[in-house]
Amino acid sequence: MNKLLQTTIAGSLPKPAWLATPGQLWAPWLLEGEALAEGWRDAVRLVLRDQERAGIDIVTDGEQTRRHFVTTFIENLEGVDFEHRKTVRIRDRYDADVPMVVGTVARAHPVYVDGARFLRAETDRKLKFTLPGPMTMVDTLFDAHYGSREKLAWAFAEILNDEALALEAAGIDVIQFDEPAFNVYFDEVADWGVRTLERAARGLACTTAVHICYGYGIKANVDWKKTLGGEWRQYERTFPLLAQSSIKQVSLECANSHVPIELIGLLTGKDVLVGAIDVATDRVETPEAVAATLRAALKHVPAERLYPCTNCGMVPLAREVARGKLAALGAGAALVRAELGAGG
Ligand SMILES: [Zn+2]
Repeated sequence: MNKLLQTTIAGSLPKPAWLATPGQLWAPWLLEGEALAEGWRDAVRLVLRDQERAGIDIVTDGEQTRRHFVTTFIENLEGVDFEHRKTVRIRDRYDADVPMVVGTVARAHPVYVDGARFLRAETDRKLKFTLPGPMTMVDTLFDAHYGSREKLAWAFAEILNDEALALEAAGIDVIQFDEPAFNVYFDEVADWGVRTLERAARGLACTTAVHICYGYGIKANVDWKKTLGGEWRQYERTFPLLAQSSIKQVSLECANSHVPIELIGLLTGKDVLVGAIDVATDRVETPEAVAATLRAALKHVPAERLYPCTNCGMVPLAREVARGKLAALGAGAALVRAELGAGG
């Protein structure tokens, strides 16, 4: 029997101070050339060890080789001008300098596949690899060529699919597409968002996942959350669509949020990655607090389908805080696993 309540994280972890300035989103690299490539490998080794020590079952590279979870991928594609960046409003919330699509987008070379091979060689744990979802990619650039968000999303979906298939061949067990935009553009999610996501995952035999959240704990997101009212029911629009999709897992925000926990009951038949770690605070959860979130979730999802996780990426946090939160996640899951009589 498979171990119950296998733990994992949304994706990112903070980087060492010698690699990129801490506490800063999109922080530039502090190394160059071969020293940077070696720095990336060392940073990945460190985050693997931190996850393994904390008892995380399905580990990631902590996104140590990316400045940003979307634009680093986009900058590796043809048809994109990332030197002449444009300022756009991201998810109706904050302005950012983003790459510009100036022609037909194409993937001339693999983007993260060498990194995935290195990752596979460095740990025996199950591996998850994150990619941006098509809608979130469209929402994180300036389009000067396609003139249609949907058309561009389909083009990205094909590119993502090529990359995902290559990552799977490199030994990745779970491929997760990050779609925070699914929490904002509900009509587009229903029109083409879920379909382009499925296109990105087409033909994958490994586990597929989608991560939908309320974002990092940066001020623009915190301010946005204040406008959402006492109950956050955004998932109510998307979960029934995802329940009918071919995507196997859904990663969502739960801890310390205003999401009514019963909404996870809408994900019939899906694995649910329950966010039991709040990434918007430096306060480290106790294992008991993590366990309480998981127990509440267990009322709406069977134990075989529950994967304790973080609300979102931890890249903006201090490393010490992130390590504490990883340990709390592992220990909290172990508490509930013991209650279920599952050991481990
Ligand atoms: Zn997130």
